[in-house]
Amino acid sequence: MRYIPTVSPLPAEPPPRAEPPPPPRDPRSVRHSPAATARRTADLVNALADETAGPGDIAALLRAHGENDPVGLTPHDLAGLRQAAGRLREVFAAGTTTDAVTVLNRLLHEHTGPLRLTSHRGASPWHPHVDPDDDAPWPEWFLASSCLALAVLVWTHQRPPGGICAADGCPRVFVSQGSGRDRRYCSRRCATRERVAAHRRRHSPAQESGPSAHPHLQCCRKRSGT
Ligand SMILES: [Zn+2]
Repeated sequence: MRYIPTVSPLPAEPPPRAEPPPPPRDPRSVRHSPAATARRTADLVNALADETAGPGDIAALLRAHGENDPVGLTPHDLAGLRQAAGRLREVFAAGTTTDAVTVLNRLLHEHTGPLRLTSHRGASPWHPHVDPDDDAPWPEWFLASSCLALAVLVWTHQRPPGGICAADGCPRVFVSQGSGRDRRYCSRRCATRERVAAHRRRHSPAQESGPSAHPHLQCCRKRSGT
């Protein structure tokens, strides 16, 4: 028979000290995060690439990203936003971090002012701006806030802040996902479509070329949310 020593019971541990609850998170600070701002940039760049999108469509998208009313966009604002979107697309089109940084540095030099903090007279948490003032025109605001957010993403992850969808015929831009695996497609739909197309090419050499091999080629040209 094994000898089992008697063990005196351990003294009871004191109850864990209750940690003070974390301060409630202000949802507005999430909306103003660099990642959220960069996603808004990508959505706007994609929506503005659709020539049929009018001021009402873009205003609705801005509201969906938390912009408060009144969001009054004129056709002149829309033209300026399209021009800004074209400049920002260059950042997404850059294939390397160095190229993305070169484009961002040029845009920051040519189109933004000094860094400042604002709360929009208490309507939002403090956050940085590099546009001239809180009432800057929409195109200046869009370009400046986008450059700042994309620059912070480069700083944080040391990689390009986004890219253009690798699916055949898809022009949509996307924001890179943190430090995970390189993202190649704008959406799950495009990734699936490319996987199916690659599978068909491997198993049906006769379908290798021609539009019939890509029945959904235009599907992701549709606007965001469709
Ligand atoms: Zn796509």
